[in-house]
Amino acid sequence: NKYFLDDVRLKYPDDFDRIRRMSLIDEDGERYVRMAHLACVGSHAINGVAALHSELLKQDVLRDFYEMYPEKFSNKTNGVTPRRFIVLSNPRLTKLINSKIGDNWIKNLEDLRKLEAFVDDPEFRQEFRQIKHAIKQDLATYIKQQYDITVDPNSLFDIQAKRFHEYKRQHLNTLHIITLYNRIKANPDIDITPRTFLFGGKAAPGYYMAKLMIKLITAVSEVVNRDPDVRDRIKVLFLKDYNVKFAQRVYPAADLSEQISTAGKEASGTGNMKFALNGALTIGTLDGANVEIREEVGEENFFLCGLTTEEVYALKASGKYNPRQYYENNAELKKVIDRIASGFFSHGDTELFKPMIDSLLNRDEYLLLADYQSYIECQDRVSQAYRDQDRWTRMAILNVARMGKFSSDRSIHDYCTDLWHIQPINVELEEDAHVKIDGLSGSI
Ligand SMILES: *Cc1c(COP(=O)(O)O)cnc(C)c1O
Repeated sequence: NKYFLDDVRLKYPDDFDRIRRMSLIDEDGERYVRMAHLACVGSHAINGVAALHSELLKQDVLRDFYEMYPEKFSNKTNGVTPRRFIVLSNPRLTKLINSKIGDNWIKNLEDLRKLEAFVDDPEFRQEFRQIKHAIKQDLATYIKQQYDITVDPNSLFDIQAKRFHEYKRQHLNTLHIITLYNRIKANPDIDITPRTFLFGGKAAPGYYMAKLMIKLITAVSEVVNRDPDVRDRIKVLFLKDYNVKFAQRVYPAADLSEQISTAGKEASGTGNMKFALNGALTIGTLDGANVEIREEVGEENFFLCGLTTEEVYALKASGKYNPRQYYENNAELKKVIDRIASGFFSHGDTELFKPMIDSLLNRDEYLLLADYQSYIECQDRVSQAYRDQDRWTRMAILNVARMGKFSSDRSIHDYCTDLWHIQPINVELEEDAHVKIDGLSGSI
């Protein structure tokens, strides 16, 4: 730290505040090591994992370090492996793609773009739709076996699968579910697009609010799934023990991928990529890699909602954000919050969800109430779009065809060439090498 701060002093003489800010040791109160600063000094390269994240590092989180060492900074947008997240997890889709464009896409994901040529082929669209339906049927069968709950594979499968965290806002998704439920209760004959809401994910053991978010979902599901007024038009299910192996079953079954983190909070996300590669449409905020996914697939094939990072920062900086005002001024939102607070989903217990209601109405650090109306309006557009199955399928195909950028082959290649300066070497493989992972097998 002594040598490092000497360097800072040389570059910025007498800028004592900067020296204090950049020190490897925080000495404001109790002294502690700033691990991120230590990493910046020790590393020859620093990168964000999506374009937005890299910009935030330079302009905000690591601004002083960017000013001192601009040449260290770059972006490497994340990717996922098509071997696990398409070939292994979705053999039906793999076979369909191979029948149209061969199998070179498995090693060169940009080749998926060749699928665009088939989007106007009605037979291809029908096959694509049948495959999605068959995968949803499989998951429905699993859900029947494991949970004894019947879900309709013709309904819109709306899935949020990721770790539970307030910034990922599974509870915003839940506010939408309760909104639909309230609409049905107010008008039982209302014409709504049937949906199956699926959640998967774990909370960290000590993260009380994340566990309460899971509790809210299971509480809502117990009421909604049994209410005869709902007439099975919406179903809600929390899938337990979410892990990578189970994730491979879940991503291919989605019609809609929930990527609704508070803008500026998600570094990249990779679940967003796995869903879109398997033909789900995304409802999402301009956060992490969502920004680049939307650029790639086209804004007309992406459901955008919520505040931008700049708007989030401005609202917070103003010091004027009052979530209770949104609650008071939005009748539908007020009914949703009041239903939770009344104990309706908790056997009359008005204490259970109080910490969450209190957090949302008085602080709302993750701006759920600010984004509620935008999210609900966007979900209403999703419901409308799903009614035109042929149009929906076109959008889904274009998502798959335009996701080539998000291969981990591309991201790792970028690290190799730009940062590590290493070349690929040839590895001799046996003919017909087989992969076998977790009991699933396929050939490459
Ligand atoms: C991909 C993946 C994640 C990451 O999901 P995000 O939506 O990007 O947070 C988490 N858990 C499992 C099991 C995954 O496969």
